[in-house]
Amino acid sequence: MQQTPATPTHCPYCALQCGMNLTPVPEGGVAVAERPDFPVNRGALCGKGRTAPAVLSDRVRLTSPLVRKDGVLTPAGWDEALDRIAEGLARTRADHGPDAVGIFGGGGLTNEKAYALGKFARVVLGTSQIDYNGRFCMSSAAAAGGRAFGLDRGLPFPLEDIPKTGCVILVGSNLAETMPPALRYLTELKENGGRLIVVDPRRTRTAEQADLHLAPRPGTDLALALGLLHLVVAEGRTDEAYIRERTSGWEETRAAAMAHWPEYVERITGVSVPELREAVRLFCEPEHAMVLTARGPEQQAKGTDTVGAWINLCLATGRAGRPLSGYGCLTGQGNGQGGREHGQKADQLPGYRKLTDPEARRHVAGVWGVDPDSLPGPGRSAYELLDALGGDVRALLLMGSNPVVSAPRAAHIEERIRSLDFLAVCDVVLSETAALADVVLPVTQWAEETGTTTNLEGRVLLRRRAITPPEGVRTDLYVLHELAARLGVEKGFPTDAEEVFEELRRASAGGIADYSGITYRRLAEEDGVFWPCPAPAGRNTPPAHPGTPRLFLDRFATEDGRARFAPVSHRPIAEEPDDEYPVLLTTGRVVAQYQSGAQTRRVDELNAAAPGPFVELHPRLAERLGAAEGDPVAVVSRRGRAVAPARITTAIRPDTVFMPFHWPGEGRANTLTNPALDPTSRMPEFKACAVRVERLEAVRG
Ligand code: SF4
Repeated sequence: MQQTPATPTHCPYCALQCGMNLTPVPEGGVAVAERPDFPVNRGALCGKGRTAPAVLSDRVRLTSPLVRKDGVLTPAGWDEALDRIAEGLARTRADHGPDAVGIFGGGGLTNEKAYALGKFARVVLGTSQIDYNGRFCMSSAAAAGGRAFGLDRGLPFPLEDIPKTGCVILVGSNLAETMPPALRYLTELKENGGRLIVVDPRRTRTAEQADLHLAPRPGTDLALALGLLHLVVAEGRTDEAYIRERTSGWEETRAAAMAHWPEYVERITGVSVPELREAVRLFCEPEHAMVLTARGPEQQAKGTDTVGAWINLCLATGRAGRPLSGYGCLTGQGNGQGGREHGQKADQLPGYRKLTDPEARRHVAGVWGVDPDSLPGPGRSAYELLDALGGDVRALLLMGSNPVVSAPRAAHIEERIRSLDFLAVCDVVLSETAALADVVLPVTQWAEETGTTTNLEGRVLLRRRAITPPEGVRTDLYVLHELAARLGVEKGFPTDAEEVFEELRRASAGGIADYSGITYRRLAEEDGVFWPCPAPAGRNTPPAHPGTPRLFLDRFATEDGRARFAPVSHRPIAEEPDDEYPVLLTTGRVVAQYQSGAQTRRVDELNAAAPGPFVELHPRLAERLGAAEGDPVAVVSRRGRAVAPARITTAIRPDTVFMPFHWPGEGRANTLTNPALDPTSRMPEFKACAVRVERLEAVRG
């Protein structure tokens, strides 16, 4: 019997975008196999990727549109559902104006979907009110990277450079749980004689691999980075020639750092002066070194400055824009990188262009065939948009996001969503947010559709369709095409992903994230192409641009080519503990669940490994509360209360508790989190808020 050839593609989940081979199986769905030739994960997959086909099953996914009738979501035909959405959006727009209609996207959407969604908002609806859940992921690193380097790309170098450097400071990242195959790069770094420093309030499985683990109090890593920079200066470890030739703004930054004495930093962070000195020694002694940040420093109300402080450390020591050295952000969501480049962000046009830039508006409006003046200006950021629902934003179209679980101050956001006049959701499953909708559209998922994503390295990848989707399911591009037509825009919203990508190439041409030299054909033949990749100029088939795996080696992307220091100073978290709320809460992830868990909570194997939320607390705090392992404890903040079993461990600081945020209901961690926003990135402070912990009577058999 002839075997069906395997389809090489990529995982639907995180930003590593591991390569995998899919083969259809007779009972329906696909089998996942290793794809050792793909350089990013070299065949390795985590449990989430291996079990992803389970979500293709009719048992857990939606296969028919649902329309609310007499208060109940009821199966309906596609025309009825689309008519109802078009009517809901048009009525709101007519009654309250275009900005009364909001769009909320997701960092898991392909580049084509993110592009089409941004165009739909601005061209069809004429609304400025569009943002996406990627705002909650990496926006602080994006803002800090843009400010320092003139360009934000998660990693400015491929992952393969990590094992060859001399030292990595990994700040607020638990790779062992979030993207396990990437841990191999750190293991190889150590095998090659390099050093690993992990900065994390918890002794995570990643921190256990470190040569040095620094465990600052949550929300104080800005001070920690300043303390390290102070010591770099005091010990004469700055690279003066590099600072002179490749940077600007050093004197002000140096002065700010010198105000942060190591002893002062020790008092703020809880990290001892000898530990600070050891970190500086490990980081500065090798010829090359890197700093990698993730959600820890980024999800703070001062996330942009915190990341800026870590970038300052790289710049002062000459460790950016040089081979095997640099600063990088480990983006989280599957297309967290591409999703922020092509227009679903409130202030952005495709190609990482700014909506406020007249030239950018002119270029993109030209591609779209509309008057530049018809494009709305920037809208609200994600939390501000969600907070405005039911107020001046009265209808919402939501695609690929589950804010009822993932937004900060989630009970309030759930109430805002319930207060909408009209909600339409496109999703694969009936998420907690979809369950509140007036209309739910069942859409195709990764193995059933073709599209591109951009991984955390800035590598643009082709995800290929491997199987036919079930009857009754359509693509997001089909949804936008049909809605645009019903709202009077007949052209410009093709359903074919490659056709959308061809337009995206033109729209991005000349922008920061220039994809114009990338084609589906190239992506099918290569292991991805790193942007920027401009189309070659000239008439006579000039050679294709090779893409840009390593950025900034000659110059930074600022106007003068120099990297900019950020003169930042320590400031406390938005909500310090007090007598009523004396403990800090920090939130994060576990290896067997992904983001709001909408997909992974439907996979038996993953649920068996991670069945529900928990509260991680130190034995000293547990003793004070009289709580034993497994006892239900309540965590209470100014925004609400969550209950989950205690998990007692010395891996956490005694002044801090940790909860993973993947679950809804009474254990929903985001009921507690603080929506205080970073002034630049508008990132909420997920990583630190004041709580009290109460022991509940355990129900013992
Ligand atoms: Fe998928 Fe990320 Fe796991 Fe790789 S590490 S298999 S991309 S979830």
